[in-house]
Parts: sequence; C-alpha cells; structure tokens
Amino acid sequence: MVTYCIICHLSIKGIDSSYVCPNGHPAHTDCLKEWLLHSSNCPLCREPYSNGLLDKFKDFIKLREDEKLATLDNELKIEELRKMEEVTSKMIFLKFIESIDILISEQEYDYALSRLELHEDANLSNSIEQDILFLKGKINYLRGRYDLAINQLFKLVKEKYNYPDGFSYLGKAYEALGLDDKAKWAYERVN
Ligand SMILES: [Zn+2]
Ligand SMILES: [Zn+2]
Repeated sequence: MVTYCIICHLSIKGIDSSYVCPNGHPAHTDCLKEWLLHSSNCPLCREPYSNGLLDKFKDFIKLREDEKLATLDNELKIEELRKMEEVTSKMIFLKFIESIDILISEQEYDYALSRLELHEDANLSNSIEQDILFLKGKINYLRGRYDLAINQLFKLVKEKYNYPDGFSYLGKAYEALGLDDKAKWAYERVN
C-alpha cells in the first residue's frame, strides 16, 4: 500500500523517512521539519505531535530560530548604518551650505556658483537639491543675473510651492527687471 505525505501529497516510499501524528497521519521528515517551524500540531487533524517526536526536531528548530534572529539583527544593523549615513550626509551638506553662505557674504559669487555646480539639481523632489537650486538663484540675483535667477527660482517654486525664500528672491529679481506685477505675485507667496 502506498502512503502519501499529508504536507506535500507525494508518496512516501520505503526509503523515505517519515513521521506520523497520534492519529497516524504520515509526513516526510523533511516536510514535517518545515511544518514544525510554524506549528507543533498535525496539519491535517490538529492533534499535537508527541513530545518524543518534537524532541527529535528540537535542534533543527532552535537552529532555524537562531538564524532568523541573526537575519533580523543584520537587518537592524543595516538600517542603523543607513540612518547614520543619512545623518552624516546631512551634516556634510549643512557644512557645505555654511561655506557657500560665507562665500556669498564675501561676494565670491563665481566661486560659490562653481562649488554649487558640483552638486546635482536634477531631482527636485529632493530637498537638498531644492536648496542647491535656491542658492544658485539667490547668487545669480546677487550678481545681477536676474534672468538666470528668475529661471532657477521659478523652477524651484514650481516644484516646491512652500519655499518662502525662493519666492522672496524671485520677487526681488522681477523687481530688479521692473516687472512689478510679477514681483507682487511672488511677494504675495512669501508667507
Ligand atoms: Zn512530504
Ligand atoms: Zn493527524
């Protein structure tokens, strides 16, 4: 008579090792191993497996649990590292912004711009790249390149409406070109 594993539904041949529940439901050893990671009751009749049987799989289950914990631990470590990198890159960026502000206060506009050019502003959903674009616009305003400033600041506020400094410098650039209506429009959006 052929018996079938209640877990994988394949036959249990003479050479396959198998175990039965108290009601005699057979399962391949390997199938049962995996099942016992989830439950210690027979998948068919829900009868608990005997302690004697569970004991035979104790080491395997413990090993798997340890592996799971180790994976979890690694995931936590990776997440921690990722967060640290994020904080570090933010700190580096703040330092960078500080150095740009110093260059601006010393009216080293070309140098400040050349440093900003090293940073991308292609992905404007990113707040760092928004700040880069703002600084470019601000510097262009300060060095009298109002057309460029308007171009950049308009692109910025189109992406991020809530950017008061962006609207403020956009207004100033419009004003400098005598575009008073547009300046008024921009200033109204500062607050
Ligand atoms: Zn099986
Ligand atoms: Zn059973």
